[in-house]
Amino acid sequence: MEHKQDMVIIGAGMVGAALACALAPTGLKITIVDTRPPPQISDNEFDLRVSAITRASQNIFSALDAWDYMQQKRVSPFREMRVWDSQGNGQIHFDVAEIGEDNLGWIVENSIIQNALVDRLTQFNNVKLVYPDRISDFNVNDDAVTIELASGKQLQSRLLVGADGADSTVRKLSGITTRGWSYDQQGLVCTVRTSGHHNEMAQQVFLPTGPLAFLPIGDHTCSIVWSLSGDSAEQMSSLDDEAFLKALQSAFGYSLGTMLEVGPRAVFPLRLQHSTEYVHSRIALIGDAAHAIHPLAGQGVNLGLADAASLADVIQDALEQKRDIGALQVLRKYERWRKGDNLTMMAAMDGFKRLFGSQLFPVTGLRNLGLTLTNNLAPLKNIIMRQAMGLEGDLARLAKPRF
Ligand SMILES: Cc1cc2nc3c(=O)[nH]c(=O)nc-3n(C[C@H](O)[C@H](O)[C@H](O)COP(=O)(O)OP(=O)(O)OC[C@H]3O[C@@H](n4cnc5c(N)ncnc54)[C@H](O)[C@@H]3O)c2cc1C
Repeated sequence: MEHKQDMVIIGAGMVGAALACALAPTGLKITIVDTRPPPQISDNEFDLRVSAITRASQNIFSALDAWDYMQQKRVSPFREMRVWDSQGNGQIHFDVAEIGEDNLGWIVENSIIQNALVDRLTQFNNVKLVYPDRISDFNVNDDAVTIELASGKQLQSRLLVGADGADSTVRKLSGITTRGWSYDQQGLVCTVRTSGHHNEMAQQVFLPTGPLAFLPIGDHTCSIVWSLSGDSAEQMSSLDDEAFLKALQSAFGYSLGTMLEVGPRAVFPLRLQHSTEYVHSRIALIGDAAHAIHPLAGQGVNLGLADAASLADVIQDALEQKRDIGALQVLRKYERWRKGDNLTMMAAMDGFKRLFGSQLFPVTGLRNLGLTLTNNLAPLKNIIMRQAMGLEGDLARLAKPRF
């Protein structure tokens, strides 16, 4: 039996759920499908997966009425950021006080973000959450797309959105190809308690093996992302706690005092991947389904949330103009808006990754000089801080600051 919908979103992760929240107030009939329910939030333990959230993404969550829920659970601001090169003495330090803002962004557990958005969705009668289920096929014709789910259900919709992550089935079934490469690295993540306090400062050191970031998440507690080659990531994650803390201490140094305790560890493959197209007739890709990026600047989900907010703007404009929300001409507007911005960020992060991965003497010397010079140029630092906060460029309505 076919259920008629305006929009079917595959993937109720942070990005897919944000799009559903953004469009729910329009009254569109939306079904959002995921293979699993959102992860549970633990009161006593931090989620292994956390995201550095820009101020633009915070604006989106506030506009979606999901930010209060997150604040009531756990969010942790960062007001300073320090980045340095282990192969020299170059470093750069950002302090939000220099631009008169309250914070540079927030560290929030992914499970809290997902639950906040899904909780909001349950308040709308026109949005249906379906899990566990998965897309198995779809077929596009002039007026609609017919979607087959693994459970045997059939949905008919004006638009199908793939928000199903880097291995997107929607993208593959659409025949949309990707460009990119694996970094042959894994991101090792875990929570670490330190004797020193982070003082709401995010820190990242570029090691010859890859970047190591400490993100403030709680009292004397940081969530770390340690980029390592495949073999060493597996090796590090299987060390006992004492040996792991010793290796971490030696890699990071003592700017947070002694490494005292570590929680469970997990590793995630790191890759750069960009879809050659974001849209086909009646199909749109958002978030990691369209682009996956190295986590060294914590931008992946922020780019995805900007996709969701921009697609929501384009669809709302189409509704006002009484146009078909699945028409290719409508969807192309979203693609033109987001593809360039995403590509610029991806190229910048890939450049950083390569620059800091090089051990060649002239390169290490120049990058250390670059860090030191930038650190002494207040106007340039202020521009970088505003970029990192996501407050520059062509922002979607939901991402703009509200006064
Ligand atoms: C180690 C690491 C650290 C990171 N740190 C940051 C950070 O600090 N800041 C930041 O901005 N980004 C960060 N990122 C990137 C960020 O995690 C991703 O960009 C983000 O998770 C993408 O969200 P998404 O909703 O597009 O995709 P996903 O989070 O992958 O969600 C996809 C959803 O789709 C569902 N799904 C998949 N296939 C199907 C199917 N066939 N049918 C139905 N449902 C399906 C999945 O169950 C999932 O719920 C990091 C990434 C890594 C690996």
